Amino acid sequence: MLRSPTYEDVRDAAVRIASHANRTPVLRSRRINEELGADVVFKCENFQRMGAFKFRGALNALSLFTPEQRRAGVVTYSSGNHAQAIALAARLLDIPATIVMPHDAPSSKVEATRGYGGQVVVYDRYTEDREEIGRALAAERGLTLIPPYDHPDVIAGQGTAAAELFEEVGDLDALFVPLGGGGLLSGTTLSARALSPGCALYGVEPEAGDDGRRSLIQGSIVHIDTPRTIADGAQTQHLGVHTFEIIRREVDDILTATDAELVEGMRTFGTVMKIVVEPTGCLGLAAARKSPERVRGRRVGVVVSGGNVDLARYAALLTS
Ligand SMILES: *Cc1c(COP(=O)(O)O)cnc(C)c1O
Repeated sequence: MLRSPTYEDVRDAAVRIASHANRTPVLRSRRINEELGADVVFKCENFQRMGAFKFRGALNALSLFTPEQRRAGVVTYSSGNHAQAIALAARLLDIPATIVMPHDAPSSKVEATRGYGGQVVVYDRYTEDREEIGRALAAERGLTLIPPYDHPDVIAGQGTAAAELFEEVGDLDALFVPLGGGGLLSGTTLSARALSPGCALYGVEPEAGDDGRRSLIQGSIVHIDTPRTIADGAQTQHLGVHTFEIIRREVDDILTATDAELVEGMRTFGTVMKIVVEPTGCLGLAAARKSPERVRGRRVGVVVSGGNVDLARYAALLTS
């Protein structure tokens, strides 16, 4: 098994990705501060290249390929943002990329992945096992598999977003982080424990897919069927071995948000802050709103994880 990543790995990743990745803005809103009675900072990864934090982990992982791995290429499976991230990072590093994507992934994400030069292989997310398909392609074609979250180099890359946040704003009392398979949350945890050790850490997942919350309670990784939620970036069926190890040790709690609460978040981001955030990117704000006891009178961070949503779908969600 690969070794567990540390904050040192996050710092190395930050240096490795610096020339290609955006240092994303930290935004504040008076209206939201008043509503929550808190001092809230938003780390806006919707302004990351390709529109989500996943570019960080993908670029870090591919940058560590040997010359042979680079020549043969990378394969991955993803519901969207990791696919685009791998495709873009691979193009920048001149590595061929094969991406296994669900048949019902948002069309903007499939098109963007193809646009970045990725070769897309489609599967049915409700009946087929994407991990098996990815492993088979890797074995047949000699490709290196970079999974969306359960990999030390991916985790270390994702941790660079929170590292930038703490460098910019100093200590926080609490930080709310969207949670799918846990790459973002575990990487964030490495940075938080090094840079703001007293900060309470909350993962936030869709209520329809609360496997992470149940895993923490049970003390082992809970597997579920693909949850039906508008938060397509967090439709994962289980945490990873690496991500769970870090999360169980350091994360204070895992909270949930409903689809309706995510839509309210999209509306707030759009109307109050004038930014387009995809449903999954609203998990942190939704949970902060439901947790006055964790937020009131405190310095609170919210990771806005991505902004990739078809405009037609965005409009439909906001008017439904
Ligand atoms: C992938 C993704 C997540 C979840 O990240 P994990 O590392 O799988 O926990 C959250 N938000 C967005 C926008 C994503 O693309």
